[in-house]
Amino acid sequence: MDFSRSMQFDIITVFPEFFTDPLRLGVLGRAQANNRLQVRIHQLRDYTEDRHRKVDDVPYGGGGGMVIKPEPVFRAVEAIQENFPLETSRTILLSPQGRRLDQTRIGELARYHRLILICGRYEGVDERIRTGCVDEEISVGDYVLSGGEPAALVLLDAVGRLQPGVLGNKVSAEKDSFRAGILDCPRYTRPEIFRGMRVPEVLRSGNHDKIESWRREKALENTQRKRPDLLKEKQFRPGRKNGRKVSPGVHF
Ligand code: SAM
Repeated sequence: MDFSRSMQFDIITVFPEFFTDPLRLGVLGRAQANNRLQVRIHQLRDYTEDRHRKVDDVPYGGGGGMVIKPEPVFRAVEAIQENFPLETSRTILLSPQGRRLDQTRIGELARYHRLILICGRYEGVDERIRTGCVDEEISVGDYVLSGGEPAALVLLDAVGRLQPGVLGNKVSAEKDSFRAGILDCPRYTRPEIFRGMRVPEVLRSGNHDKIESWRREKALENTQRKRPDLLKEKQFRPGRKNGRKVSPGVHF
């Protein structure tokens, strides 16, 4: 992986305003300010050639709704590739019909220098965009959104926070849910007692080994209770730690 430059995102949308505040805030805002991420938002209408800047049209075969036209999307993607050439770039169509996004795919996408994200709207996009212009279709879940913008933001946030330096030096995504194939452990902060509920003693003990094994145990309990499906996949695979074979189970 090349750590020397920031990862780039080019988002193609008919609603650039959708991204204004989310990109200014928190981790994403800081990451751009620190040059860890570069995000460019492209108004799809800027790539039309008619007076009305029309990006959609009625569907062939009839039926209601409108469909995003292929010409402006092809032009937008080609212009981005030409104006900002990068070694590795992937063009993604956000779509409920795509591969469902998970942490494994997020980790793989984080290795590209640039992602071009195409946000659909209306009844969807002309099929020729999928077949002739994108590398893959990605879905954020088995439900239908009104547009690809919330999905693009989900992808951008999840991929962006994995980039070196984005979370800062002291914070790591390593122990986040799904990174080791299981959920994270419960977290507590002050006050020590809130409405009769007390922070577990071990977390206040200062004993880092004990805290670490408590966290590991609670992460497994958490996963067993909330997402037992994750453990089923893991339990039957023999584990390896520091090159040694260890008993089946989950290994941090
Ligand atoms: N008629 C399409 C279908 O049923 O497959 C749905 C079109 S949807 C109303 C409009 C746009 O929202 C899509 O083109 C896509 O870009 C985006 N979208 C909707 N659901 C999505 C999901 N689950 N994941 C990613 N993008 C989604």
